[in-house]
Amino acid sequence: MSELHAVFGGTFDPVHFGHLRSAEALARLTGLHKVTLLPNNLPPHRPQPVASPAQRLAMLRCAIADLPLFDIDDRELHRDTPSWTVTTLQTIRAERGSQQPLAFIIGQDSLLSLNKWHRWQELMSLCHLLVCRRPGYCRQPESAELQHWISKHLTDDPRRLQQYPAGLICLADTPYYPVSATVIRQRLHTGQSCSDLLPLSVINYIRQAGLYRD
Ligand code: ATP
Repeated sequence: MSELHAVFGGTFDPVHFGHLRSAEALARLTGLHKVTLLPNNLPPHRPQPVASPAQRLAMLRCAIADLPLFDIDDRELHRDTPSWTVTTLQTIRAERGSQQPLAFIIGQDSLLSLNKWHRWQELMSLCHLLVCRRPGYCRQPESAELQHWISKHLTDDPRRLQQYPAGLICLADTPYYPVSATVIRQRLHTGQSCSDLLPLSVINYIRQAGLYRD
């Protein structure tokens, strides 16, 4: 079996330490060598991003310039149609073959509403779900159906993800990073410092591009 690879989807409007440090912690826990950041275009269940696709991509490039763990897959930004995670993962799976262990990274908040995602139950045939903790969100979803589905696939041992191509859910004990893109946008809007929340290279890009001021 080949090495575990992870894909981390998000709006990244902007990318911040909650994304980067959670993914680094997951890499340490699971033995991951590569995390591919997958910026979404027109996320169907979310308000539209403030930054353009090109700006979100540029911010990701700044953020990972010195972080070899990461690379970027910008395929969803080239589409005009909504990017459903399940269809993107189908394409990635087809490219990588059926045996490559593949994990999709999400935060705890995303797991709790996973049953609102397009064809969510099919995700387990395509990848593992590697879930990082996020402050303010409980571990149990409200939906009994989702809870049952999670417990069916749950593993306590992050290292097991290397042994299978897909089908496991791991709630990893990552540190809590109390940061969100919403808070960053609000702080920048009111002229407050964000140096503790995202890389300096991204802050400099935001400044130069005049983003999140209005
Ligand atoms: P917004 O505040 O605009 O909703 P966000 O900060 O939640 O944005 P996204 O790009 O929407 O960031 O998140 C992408 C993924 O990263 C989601 O699965 C989300 O759960 C996860 N994530 C975001 N912030 C954190 C954090 N601080 N800790 C752990 N996971 C996070």
